[in-house]
Amino acid sequence: MIKRDYYEVLGVRRDAGDDDIKKAYRQMALKYHPDRNSEDPHAEERFKEASEAYEVLSDPERRHIYDTYGHQGLAGAGFQGFSGMDDIFASFGDIFEEFFGGGLGFGGRSHPRRRGRAGGDLRHEIKVTFEESAKGVEKEISVTKQTVCETCKGSGQKPGTERKACRQCEGHGQVTHRQGFFILQTTCPVCHGEGSVIEESCPECKGRGRVQKKKKLSVKVPPGIEDGMSLVLRSEGEAGANGGPAGDLYVTVSVEPHDFFERNGDNVVFRLDITFV
Ligand SMILES: [Zn+2]
Ligand SMILES: [Zn+2]
Repeated sequence: MIKRDYYEVLGVRRDAGDDDIKKAYRQMALKYHPDRNSEDPHAEERFKEASEAYEVLSDPERRHIYDTYGHQGLAGAGFQGFSGMDDIFASFGDIFEEFFGGGLGFGGRSHPRRRGRAGGDLRHEIKVTFEESAKGVEKEISVTKQTVCETCKGSGQKPGTERKACRQCEGHGQVTHRQGFFILQTTCPVCHGEGSVIEESCPECKGRGRVQKKKKLSVKVPPGIEDGMSLVLRSEGEAGANGGPAGDLYVTVSVEPHDFFERNGDNVVFRLDITFV
């Protein structure tokens, strides 16, 4: 399928400001929200398309990449759009709350907030030659990062073992203290409010659910990249804790100077000394 121009999708001018873009997306979201268009099979597509356009145009870095290199550039920067509706709701939950008010028009679809902690973003630097920066190149990098433990799938518990009720709070997740006349209720410090604790820790990650690991990734550097630009690889940062989302990986590209050629905006300059004659 041929992707439509993001500005066309939202019906805004190329120099539209952030507010106009947000306003346009709001209109689209209200018009094509799948919960309000159950009889129109195209509504969901339009909704996804508009959400993707907004995701890009509302992010200055991505918008710049799109303005300069188009859809191709974004793909090279690791942007893949949304895989489904849940993905969109997870990303835009806060905006939708602002658009539609607390849960209005969202049926049972609004996303419960995950307890997990998001993983940190990572930075990496790569060097490309002058020629590679002009033609584009694919580079393999290896990044050492926190990844979800494969043995326990991130749960931190030894496979085959169960969680057991927390003894501190007797499974309530809350503990009560008496302070003078008051009875205070706070989150249980032992199970962090979950009401259960790991019986036997995963031997691989010692119960942390994540392990430090080296991962090889390939980075597509789009043609025309400038020295110092960053590419974003979504979800390739540190793994989140307790099922939280992973962070992003920012790859900064430094372009090595060429012996003869020099870049000046979109032009390549070649200096040649010649005799007066
Ligand atoms: Zn583990
Ligand atoms: Zn507890």
